[in-house]
Amino acid sequence: MYIETESGKWEVVIGLEIHAQIISESKLFSNASTKFGAGPNENVSYVDAALPGVLPVINSFCVDQAIRTGLGLNAEINKVSFFDRKNYFYADLPQGYQITQYFHPIVSGGYVDIEKEDGGVRRVNIHHIHIEQDAGKSIHDQSPVKSFIDLNRSGIALMEIVTEPDMRSAEEVALFLQKLRSILRYLKTCDGNMDEGSMRADVNISVHRPGTPYGTRAEVKNVNSIKFMATAVNYEIERQIEILENGGEVDQETRLFDSAKGVTRTMRSKEDAQDYRYFPEPDLPPLVLEQSRIDELKKTIPELPDAKAKRLQQDYDLPKYDAELISSEMEIADYYERALAATKTTDKTVAKLLSNWLLGELFAQLNKSSKSISESDISAEDLAELVMLIKDEVISGKIAKEVLELMWNEKKKASVIVEEKGLKQITSTDEIKKSLQAVLDENQDKVAEYKSGKEKLFGFFIGQAMKKTGGKANPKMLNEILRELLHN
Ligand code: ADP
Ligand code: MG
Repeated sequence: MYIETESGKWEVVIGLEIHAQIISESKLFSNASTKFGAGPNENVSYVDAALPGVLPVINSFCVDQAIRTGLGLNAEINKVSFFDRKNYFYADLPQGYQITQYFHPIVSGGYVDIEKEDGGVRRVNIHHIHIEQDAGKSIHDQSPVKSFIDLNRSGIALMEIVTEPDMRSAEEVALFLQKLRSILRYLKTCDGNMDEGSMRADVNISVHRPGTPYGTRAEVKNVNSIKFMATAVNYEIERQIEILENGGEVDQETRLFDSAKGVTRTMRSKEDAQDYRYFPEPDLPPLVLEQSRIDELKKTIPELPDAKAKRLQQDYDLPKYDAELISSEMEIADYYERALAATKTTDKTVAKLLSNWLLGELFAQLNKSSKSISESDISAEDLAELVMLIKDEVISGKIAKEVLELMWNEKKKASVIVEEKGLKQITSTDEIKKSLQAVLDENQDKVAEYKSGKEKLFGFFIGQAMKKTGGKANPKMLNEILRELLHN
C-alpha cells in the first residue's frame, strides 16, 4: 500500500519493539513480589534496590515463560544465551545499569501472520526476543519541589519482542499488536494490559520511495494504546513526507507521543549502542537450556488463536468472522465450546445460533456492565439451554432477548423464567388462527384495502396478532396462517 502525493508514491516502513511484562509472581533476579497496585516501594528486595554486595539469581520460571513465548511465535530457542549490562544513569535505576541480553538473546526469529480488512495476509517477522529487567519509576507530580522514586517495578521481568521492519501501515501495526496480545494472553506469558503498562510498544517509522532503500527512521515512545498507535503512526508519516518533499532529511531520533495533542515531538537524538557501553554481565553465568526442558515446555503450548479459528470453522461450519472473534480470547473460546457441548447436539445450525447469541446478546450484556466473559452472570450451560429453547421453537428469538435479560438480572435459568412468566411460544394452529381472525374482523376496512392491492398491510395484521398473543405466537405459523386466511 503506497501513499500518493503530488510528487509520487511513498512507502511506509514500520518495525516495533514491544516490552511485554512477563507474568510471574516474582521478579527476574529477586524473590520480590510483582503484584500490581502495591504501595510505593513495598515490592523491593535488596537486589532491586541494588544494595552493595547483592547478586542476581535468575528466576527460572521467567525463563520458561520466554521460551514458551518463543515457541508460541514459531521462533527458535537458543540453547545458550547470555546476559549483558546496558549502562546508563537514571535516578530510578539504582544499579546504574540494566541487565538485558544484547549480543545473544534467548529467542531468535519467529513470526505472526496478520490478516487485513481486504483479506490479504501479511507476515510480520520477529527479529528476536530477549529478556531484561525493568527500571523503577520516577514520580514528579506529587510535590512542586521533590521527585519520588518507586522501585516496585525495578527488576520485574520483561520480554522485549523486536520485529523486523515488516509493517506498512497503521492498520497493520494495530492488527499485529492485537494478534500478538492475543497470543501472549493465550500463552499466559503476558497479560497484554496496555493501561497498566504491562505491554508497551516503541514504534519505528520511516518512509521511502518504493524500490529504493529504506529511509531513516524515527522511534516513537510512550504509545500506550492501540488506538493511539494509529494516531502516532499517521502523524509521523505526514511529518516525514513533508520534510522529505521539502528537500530535508529525517533525523534518526527518539520522539515522544503526546496523546492529548495527537502529535509526536523530539525527545532526544537516538543514542548509539556504544553510548551504553554494553558488556557481558559478570554476575550471571551463561543461560544454558537442555533440549528436554524445551520439549517439556512445548507440551504446555495451548491451541493458539489462528489454529483455533480454523478448527471452529471446520468442525462447526462457523463463518470466519464468528470463528475469529470467538478465538480472539481463550476464555471466550472455552466458554463457547463448553456451551456447545452442553447443547448435546451436533446440529451445525445450533453452533451458529449459539455463536449469534454469544457474540450478540451476551456480549452486549457484558459490555453494558463492563464485565469479561469469565465474570459473566450467565454460565455457558445456561446460555446453551436458552439457545436450545430457541432452536426447539419453545420461545421465539424476540422473547429470548427478554429472557436473556432476565437471566442476567435475576440469575435464573431460561427454562425457569419461561415457565414462571408463561413465555412459551404459541404453536397451536387453532389459537393462532383465532387471534388472526379477530384482527381481521376488527379491521375489515383494511382487509378490503389489502385485497385491492395494498400489500404492505400484511405486516400490520401480523403486528396486531403478535400484540394479541403477547409476542408469543410462532412467527412462521403466524405468517402461513394469515396468508391462508387472506387468500381463501
Ligand atoms: P538499533 O540496533 O539501532 O536499535 P535495530 O536494527 O535493532 O536498530 O531496529 C530497531 C527497530 O527498528 C526494529 O523494530 C526494526 O524493525 C526497526 N527498523 C529498523 N530499520 C527501520 C526502518 N528503516 N524503518 C522503520 N523501522 C525500522
Ligand atoms: Mg535495537
